[in-house]
Amino acid sequence: MIPVDKQVPSPHFTKGRKSFKPEAIVVHIMEGTLVGTDAWFRDPISKVSAHFGIGKNGELHQYVDLANSAWHAGRVNKPTWVGMKAAGNGTFYNPNYYTIGIEHEGFGQTPWSDRMYHKSAELIAHLCVDFHIPLDRAHVVGHHEIYSLKSCPGQHVNFNILLDLARQHRTALVDGTAPPTPAPVSGIPALQEEKKSGSVRVLKNLNIRRKAPTTSAGIVSTAPAGSTLAFEGWVTNGQPIQGNRKWYFNQDGDYFWSGATGEVV
Ligand SMILES: [Zn+2]
Repeated sequence: MIPVDKQVPSPHFTKGRKSFKPEAIVVHIMEGTLVGTDAWFRDPISKVSAHFGIGKNGELHQYVDLANSAWHAGRVNKPTWVGMKAAGNGTFYNPNYYTIGIEHEGFGQTPWSDRMYHKSAELIAHLCVDFHIPLDRAHVVGHHEIYSLKSCPGQHVNFNILLDLARQHRTALVDGTAPPTPAPVSGIPALQEEKKSGSVRVLKNLNIRRKAPTTSAGIVSTAPAGSTLAFEGWVTNGQPIQGNRKWYFNQDGDYFWSGATGEVV
C-alpha cells in the first residue's frame, strides 16, 4: 500500500463490507480544504467520511480503514455508472460497501493542482493493484455518476488524464521501475466530448497525440496526407489551433486535430 502522510481516524464508517469487496474507486471534491475535511469527518454532526483525502500539495490523509465501508457514496439518485449493483425492485445495494472513496481538496469550479493529480493517480494505481480493480472509467467514477443531484467532483478533473497517469504509475509499480516524473497536467480542463464514430481523410501529415488534444502531448504516430483515420468521437474544447478547438479521438483514446482533416470522398 502507498505510504499515508497522516492518519485521521473518522468514526463514520460501517464495520466490514457486508458480503462485498472493493471493486471501484469514487472520486470526490471536498468543496473545502484538507484541514476542514479532517475536522468535518471527525465531527459527530457530519455522519460522512471517505477512505482518503488528498491536499493540493499532494499530502495524503486516511480516515477509514479499507476493510470498512466509509460513508461517502451511500445515496443513490439516477445513477449512470455501469457498476451499480441492483438489489431488485429498482433499488441498489449501498455503493459504500463495494467502493473506495477519495476526497480531493478544493472546489468543483477550481482547477486541480499538478501535485494533487499525481498523488491521486499514484493512490489509484496502488489500490487497483492491491484490490485487482481494472483501471478504466467503469471502475474509477465520479460521485455524481452515483448521485446525480450532486456535481461532485465537478468540471475540473479530467478523467482521461487521471487514468492515464494512474496507468503509468501502475506500470512502474508492477515492473518495479521508477514512477513517472510529475509533469504539468492541471492546465488541461475537463473535455467536452461528443461520441459518434466515423472517419476522415487526412489533408496534410497529421500527428496523433497521446491521450490529450494538445500539441504538448507525445506523438503516437503520424498519419500521412491522403490516408483515412477512424474516430470514435471528438471534443470541442481541445487546444485551439488557428482558432479551431475540435479534436477527434480514436478508439485508443488518442487525439488528432480536425483542422488537418476533410471528408472522406
Ligand atoms: Zn462527493
